[in-house]
Amino acid sequence: MALGGGREIGANSFYYGVGGHGILVDAGLHPEKTGWDAFPKIEALGGASVDSFLVTHAHTDHLGAVPFVLQSHPDVDLLATSETIALAQIMLQNSASLLPKQHPREVVDALTNYSLAALPETIAKFQPLELGASRELAGGDVKVTYYPSGHILGAAGILVESDGSRVFHTGDTSLHAQRIVGGAKLPHEPVDVLVSESTNGVVDAYLTHSRERELERLIETINETLAAEGSVLIPVFALGKLQEMLAMIGDAMRAGKIPTVPVYTGGMGRKISEVYDQFLMSKSRVNGLDTLSEIEQVEIPRRDGLFGGKFFREPSILLAASGMMQESTGSYLLAQRWLRLPHFAICFVGYTDPRTPGYIVSHAERGQRIRFGSMKRDVPVRCRVERFRFSAHARREELLEIVRRLQPKKVVLTHGDEKAMAAFGELILDTFPGTIVTAPEVGKWYSLSN
Ligand SMILES: [Zn+2]
Repeated sequence: MALGGGREIGANSFYYGVGGHGILVDAGLHPEKTGWDAFPKIEALGGASVDSFLVTHAHTDHLGAVPFVLQSHPDVDLLATSETIALAQIMLQNSASLLPKQHPREVVDALTNYSLAALPETIAKFQPLELGASRELAGGDVKVTYYPSGHILGAAGILVESDGSRVFHTGDTSLHAQRIVGGAKLPHEPVDVLVSESTNGVVDAYLTHSRERELERLIETINETLAAEGSVLIPVFALGKLQEMLAMIGDAMRAGKIPTVPVYTGGMGRKISEVYDQFLMSKSRVNGLDTLSEIEQVEIPRRDGLFGGKFFREPSILLAASGMMQESTGSYLLAQRWLRLPHFAICFVGYTDPRTPGYIVSHAERGQRIRFGSMKRDVPVRCRVERFRFSAHARREELLEIVRRLQPKKVVLTHGDEKAMAAFGELILDTFPGTIVTAPEVGKWYSLSN
């Protein structure tokens, strides 16, 4: 049963009943919704028991509702990789501090487990299950194995085996390697059921650009902007995208491909970078040679000091959260000033949901006037706005490659909008006729065994 993340990217959470054993995979917070709608529909399980609780990775849409689940299931075995546990401390702390701003009072009051004071207890409940390792559940009747899924540090796909049947849950995945995080590893033997993410299931023109070409284009844009005495704003997610972009910009500076100018990063992103540096030998990494802390960074001033930042007077590069310019974040606030400055540039480097300010800004044309978020007035678009694609998710052809390699009889599509799922589902049926493809509805039971 999908408890969230069925037919959309949201409060991702999936339940598997295997041999009388209940396994919950992930419990995320929906990034756009507020109130109880933002949480997985745990009540839909009825009396089904939750015995094991496996977290695939530390992004908020997979991890953010863990304290909520523990409130009703305090004795469940909670498993994640050591990398994910370390990242969860930072991510859950951030979610806990945002909770009162994003949700009505009655929700916040009911979540007694989700205060800053209660978090250490939640973190202490995590038991490490490392990439490449297995754990027997239900007295040995069920076996789960974590496979590196690419995407971000410590991220896992899960193979569930029971009574001769095999189900593989991809989690968020990418087969292609990024600058820091390597590509996903898959089980060598075929599986019966593949539960696959489908973020990039629809053809996207940007995905046909190679990473190398995209990087060249980004370097060109940065150079032209700095040469005109402007600064470059790169909206990023604090977990994953920031570290990847920082490493690439660090490389380019060291190689003399862009001039050495101040690079600004935010406080939370830096804490996450420290975790990346702690796990240099992680199985999810391409190599353990270089640390992010070696790249000189200046901290982005807090809210009050934001508009007095030196980056308005001296050419600089800013890696500011959030990637989709969600309201009241650094990139959202800065964009309102940035857009008015003709010699400045904003470079988007990832997916923006059509419902977010980032989408409006990233699709704006120079000379237009736009309004986004809760702004009262239009802003003229005078700066340069560019879109680049450095996806941490499998491209459409990689998603198909996963199906090709695992040869499932049944594919369950998750974590994608309806368009992406329909397009990818059709592609699977065209390429592998006879495969059964499902897109589960939240709160409904589906049988995987027949
Ligand atoms: Zn993710």
